[in-house]
Amino acid sequence: MISMDKFDFFEKRALIRVDFNIPLNDAHEVEDDTRIKASISTITKVLEGGGSVVLMSHLGRPKNGYEERYSLKHLQNHLSKLLNLKVGFSDNCIGDESLAQAKGLPSGSVLLLENLRFHEGETRGDIEFSEALSRMGDVYINDAFGTSHRAHASTSVITQFFPDNKLFGYLLQSEISNIDSIMQNAKRPFTAILGGAKIAGKVEIIKELLNKIDNLIIGGGMAFTFIKAMGGNVGNSLIDDSLLALAMELCELAASKNVSLYLPVDSIIANEFSNDAKIETVMIDEIPDGWMGLDIGPQTEVLFTDVIKKSESVLWNGPMGVFEMSNFEAGTKSVAQAIATATSNGAFSLVGGGDSVAAINKLGLSDKVSYVSTGGGALLEYIEGKELPGVKAILD
Ligand code: AMP
Repeated sequence: MISMDKFDFFEKRALIRVDFNIPLNDAHEVEDDTRIKASISTITKVLEGGGSVVLMSHLGRPKNGYEERYSLKHLQNHLSKLLNLKVGFSDNCIGDESLAQAKGLPSGSVLLLENLRFHEGETRGDIEFSEALSRMGDVYINDAFGTSHRAHASTSVITQFFPDNKLFGYLLQSEISNIDSIMQNAKRPFTAILGGAKIAGKVEIIKELLNKIDNLIIGGGMAFTFIKAMGGNVGNSLIDDSLLALAMELCELAASKNVSLYLPVDSIIANEFSNDAKIETVMIDEIPDGWMGLDIGPQTEVLFTDVIKKSESVLWNGPMGVFEMSNFEAGTKSVAQAIATATSNGAFSLVGGGDSVAAINKLGLSDKVSYVSTGGGALLEYIEGKELPGVKAILD
């Protein structure tokens, strides 16, 4: 495989699959540009090597072709500012006009193509669509870690048109090497912290993690399925009744592998799902009917913080509560702060998954952890040990 550093980009057009699937507000302004910033080093490398850049990405989940709110034109100015040059825009990602724009690009310039998912061939992995896309560049670079778990036209199928000219961008490379380093060579004790709403998508990850870690901390909505499975009263908290037996199995599996499992001991509960709700602090297994746990409580904060601070490796995915509401953000904040402290004491910390990244950015702690992954689903699937199609397509 060729590396970015070795490739000669002089007078080459690099077609880069980036992951610009970022949140925009109602006025179509960029709300969080973490993923755009993460692509800059790859783009700059091509430009400095005397090449030009054609960028392609998806944004959101358009259903039937063009949708104004999902147009990548909304990112054009922001990207121009970050790169300090005027980025061109093509209102399609394939076709004669876009191809003429791409072919006419002088060295040192950048063209952003319209949302790939305005064509259904993208998610279907359509071969003709992939071929049409491939004409936009002389060399293909995949730098879209966040989409690399999808076998789509632009992430995987397209590579067959670049048998000798396909590479990983710097972001994808660093994602893989950082995740590999914690999953394969973690310093001990190694603590994984999982939170968020859904337990369903995380069962396989928990099983895989139990082979590698010393401590498993579970918070957020997903903790309540465990608490209920153990016979606790969780009131109207979020639970998945179909997974009660599995939750108990996971507890037993953790014990059999000598992994210490930490669940919340208390909870901030509310009488409705609102920041204006009435609030109480109760023991986690004594939540009255009509009330729901929306954050971990103060005793849990102390318990979790203590475990995290004693760890040499920390992996965090998923908030401890409904951190989007200020009354339920304290638990997530305390975990983020504990990770920052552990990191400043020499631990390696990796934070990933849309919501944990949003939380760590909101708290201004993103530069206080070792690595912030841009991947959500891709990160989780990679941790699970699955082969990512976007990665495999380059390696094959
Ligand atoms: P996930 O997509 O599974 O990572 O879940 C992230 C979401 O979980 C966030 O939007 C949080 O607001 C939500 N969440 C965290 N804790 C709770 C809770 N105790 N009850 C309901 N939702 C929660």
